[in-house]
Amino acid sequence: MSLAEITRRIRDAEAKHGRAPGSVQLIAVSKVQPLERVVAVLEEGHRLFGENYVQEAQGKWPDLRARFPGVAVHMIGPLQTNKAKLAMELFEAIHSVDRPSLAEKLARLAQERGHCPQLFVQVNTGEEPQKAGVLPADLDDFIVRARAMDLAPAGLMCIPPEGQDPTPHFAMLSGMAARNGLTGLSMGMSSDFEAAIAYGATHVRVGSAIFGARSYA
Ligand SMILES: *Cc1c(COP(=O)(O)O)cnc(C)c1O
Repeated sequence: MSLAEITRRIRDAEAKHGRAPGSVQLIAVSKVQPLERVVAVLEEGHRLFGENYVQEAQGKWPDLRARFPGVAVHMIGPLQTNKAKLAMELFEAIHSVDRPSLAEKLARLAQERGHCPQLFVQVNTGEEPQKAGVLPADLDDFIVRARAMDLAPAGLMCIPPEGQDPTPHFAMLSGMAARNGLTGLSMGMSSDFEAAIAYGATHVRVGSAIFGARSYA
């Protein structure tokens, strides 16, 4: 598939589900993709990207930002506390705020810098032991605590369990955002972004459908 095709499908899903035109942002997930594929998508005019690894992003994006003005890069992968400072310098948003210790570190850094990237709280909607994220039962308290630290989360993020119908997870995330007064919903990937849009996604994270399969070789 191509960037143009994915963009068209997003606009169609917005129209179909009564969403405002342009209300869904496409994050092109470029992790471990060959540089030429990323450059091709930049040359098509796309400017919003997602990365999972701080080091990989650090090696790639300073140069690409210099070549392509207007780029924004969002961190969507697990973030180690000792990489939080670097992450704040590299990314316009962090979608993976998933534990109190990371929130505290980000709050401290934000105080020092007087500036903070846009933050999404990752929720482990499937309560999977191996997956990062705040448990649904702990979310409301986590948001209260984050706000008490002067953090202002923009929204919530989830990665539904593999091989299951994702829609109950999208519905759950949407409900949790609404009751906490959060407007951002980072949900939906290559296989399910249209369903996520039906449930209110504001940011879809699409990798392989744009760039092709990832090779971790
Ligand atoms: C890799 C990744 C994606 C993109 O996945 P695709 O299935 O390739 O679209 C989206 N979100 C997160 C958190 C990811 O790690």
